[in-house]
Amino acid sequence: WPPELFEEHGRELLAVLRAHFESIREVPVTVPRGTGELSASLRQDLPEHGVEFERVLDDTRELVLPYLVHWNHPSFHGYFSNSASFPGILAETMTAALNVNAMLWKSAPAASALERVVLGWVAEMVGYPAEADAVLVNGASLATLYALATARDAALGPSVRVEGLAGRDLPVLRLYTSDQAHSSVDKAAITLGFGQVNLVKVPSDERYRMRPEALEAAILDDLAAGYKPVAVVATVGTTSVGAADPLQEIADVCERNGVWLHVDAAFGGFWRLAPSLAGQVEDLTRADSLVVNPHKCLYIPMEATVLHCRHEGALADTFRLVAEYLTSAQDEHTVDYMNLTPQLGRSFRALKLWWVIRTFGRTGLAERLEHSVELAVGLREAVTAEPLWRCPVDSIYPLVCLRYEPSQDREVCDRLNAEIVEELNASGEAFVSHTVIDDGYVIRVSIGNIHTTRADVERLWRALREIAARRFPLARA
Ligand code: PLP
Repeated sequence: WPPELFEEHGRELLAVLRAHFESIREVPVTVPRGTGELSASLRQDLPEHGVEFERVLDDTRELVLPYLVHWNHPSFHGYFSNSASFPGILAETMTAALNVNAMLWKSAPAASALERVVLGWVAEMVGYPAEADAVLVNGASLATLYALATARDAALGPSVRVEGLAGRDLPVLRLYTSDQAHSSVDKAAITLGFGQVNLVKVPSDERYRMRPEALEAAILDDLAAGYKPVAVVATVGTTSVGAADPLQEIADVCERNGVWLHVDAAFGGFWRLAPSLAGQVEDLTRADSLVVNPHKCLYIPMEATVLHCRHEGALADTFRLVAEYLTSAQDEHTVDYMNLTPQLGRSFRALKLWWVIRTFGRTGLAERLEHSVELAVGLREAVTAEPLWRCPVDSIYPLVCLRYEPSQDREVCDRLNAEIVEELNASGEAFVSHTVIDDGYVIRVSIGNIHTTRADVERLWRALREIAARRFPLARA
């Protein structure tokens, strides 16, 4: 394509996207389609010859778009409701156009300098020391993996890089997290060779928060048995119900016992910006390492995660390895981001953070986050006021867990709530997910999309009640 055709197609694409967003409330969040049918509709032989862009775009609109789940829809409330904001979407386009590889300062000078700037801004927003080492990665799961590798190496010392772990007279290495932690902690324990058996799941309390006294007891037992406690992973904003572990007490336990504290604030990290939550969100400053997810809450398109580590040089001690062809001149300003994780080729992720944070400003971001919190408070109040519905667990974050209980029979209610989720999602009107807690199966409504309005949440609540009433008329109660 000559550049003028690129622009022409770009305009066509933008027109499609504009129409998509202008009519988003008429677009189903998803259109259910059988897996075999969907696969067959897309199956094609490897194209021998190129086709017109219009055809590719038309096929995308017809064959792909309806059968996605539109995470960027104002009625998407599943998992963690996120948003690609318009400046973020445009920044992604520019990033692709420039195709910079931000592995070294030398290979991407302004991208590296910008990465440092946005990492400092993120640290300031979440309340972590701005001078800590930090790096942009593609997800919280990998950030936790990298943090735990770093914690392990810090515990064992530099010999582990050379000699590895196998065949050495090392103590059993132990990790600790709560029974509510994200499965990425298990995956990291498996990947790093701790083994799941050495990931101790500390029980949580009735509000799903890790019990610090149980954590300390587990660490002390392990020390008495000759094991080596390496790291504790605490969560701020648990996946299931949006609980936050008591970080200060956990940090005290870690400090007393010389154990690394990694905090997974993938979901919870940014909510302190919302004025009504400012004093309620756990203080993250004592974390040895910290992960927060701008692609969850900061209106940044996927993928964008920040890994922070307060121990200068610790990430590089684990991951720095410079092949000859990657050597370059260094001075006090240079940061080669390839040294802070195992990833070499890296996209220019900093640009989308720079554009979004500059476009909205801290205040604009705070107002949008506060809006989500208000919508969640409103939904919780509506649920609580409705007979037969309740919120069995509370969260300060805009994550509302609710359950319809028209019967005393727990299993009946479990089944009914699962059916409600299934019917709502199949309708395309909205999309929610679920979790199972002590009370049973609950419907999980995550609120955080930048386009979601009060009317959208009210429509969701109406749809849930209508489905529930139809599935379980009160006469059957
Ligand atoms: N940590 C928590 C608390 C999460 O809720 C999630 C995902 O939802 C993750 C980690 C994993 O995040 P990612 O999808 O960025 O790897």
